[in-house]
Amino acid sequence: MNPRPADIARWWQFAPSGQVVVDGKGYTVLVNHTLSDWLGFPSEQLVNRLASELFTCESRMVYQGVLAYRVADVGSVSEVHLSLNLSNGDTLPVLCSARRLGDQKDPQILISMQPIVRKDQLERELLEARQAAQTALEEKEAVITELESMRTTLKSHNEELQRLTMRLGHEAKSDPLTGLPNRRHLDVALKELLSRAEGFLSEGFCMALLDIDHFKPVNDEYGHAVGDQVLQQLAKLLSSKLRGQDFAARIGGEEFALLMPKTAIDEASNALERLRQAIEVYHWQPVPITVSLGVTSYLPEDTSETLLARADRALYTAKREGRNRLVNG
Ligand code: GH3
Ligand code: MG
Ligand code: MG
Repeated sequence: MNPRPADIARWWQFAPSGQVVVDGKGYTVLVNHTLSDWLGFPSEQLVNRLASELFTCESRMVYQGVLAYRVADVGSVSEVHLSLNLSNGDTLPVLCSARRLGDQKDPQILISMQPIVRKDQLERELLEARQAAQTALEEKEAVITELESMRTTLKSHNEELQRLTMRLGHEAKSDPLTGLPNRRHLDVALKELLSRAEGFLSEGFCMALLDIDHFKPVNDEYGHAVGDQVLQQLAKLLSSKLRGQDFAARIGGEEFALLMPKTAIDEASNALERLRQAIEVYHWQPVPITVSLGVTSYLPEDTSETLLARADRALYTAKREGRNRLVNG
């Protein structure tokens, strides 16, 4: 069914854009309801007026120079930015498109316009959204930097803690004067060897005690500091002369314990005798020293105490028999 002209006229009145028809002399012929509603004037007051007067002073130049000129020249123009004068004194920016109707002799112009408030608003919203995104990005980068620096701090704290833990562990197990393992460390190592010897591995081992001969006179004559240096030098000698698998600990003033894993008594005796001789011939300053040693090998049923007691008895025998010697016990 074809629409009736009355319906078309009504639709035109309420079109979703402002519409005005202008004659060849620039006077308004028809103004639709949408536009008169925006302007705040009844349609009757808007017809038969110079169309350019619908717009602000600044827009009139553009209306004449661009819109009217282009339509006269090429028949149409689109998206010309103008501002309407409203009855309440406000202005309304609109985007106008126009087309020439009728023939050259009796031309009419249909101008259609859309408020650009919405476009401005969208642009503003877009700008705000961009700024918000930029701020969020900057905040995110700041948080990442903060996290990164916290991670670095945490890492260095952890490393410090690890160093401290290792130092404490080392200090708990070593003798401060010589750096050798201390008595507590010896107890742990001895228990380990005993459990291997008792277990299915049945690994035999030897243990020796070493004591400096007549050390008291060294201290008395040359002073405690010299005595300390002798102890330190002896510790170095023990470390260098023993095999890699052997274990030397300082367990008392001038008394040392030696553990020799997987070693039979003959082999241990040979190694310890070589050690004794090396100590005897070493160029000690300021006075030569010698050592006495008592060695024993693991026997089934041995405990730390029985082993130490046997080694101690052998050491005592070495002292009694004249010192500077090794005794098997
Ligand atoms: P022996 O041959 O019977 O072992 O005689 P000794 O003089 O070595 O034995 P004694 O047990 O009578 O004396 C041990 C001396 O070791 C006493 C002390 O002067 C010295 N001594 C113990 N611990 C240290 C120490 O840490 N530093 C120093 N400089 N001397 C120490
Ligand atoms: Mg001594
Ligand atoms: Mg002693």
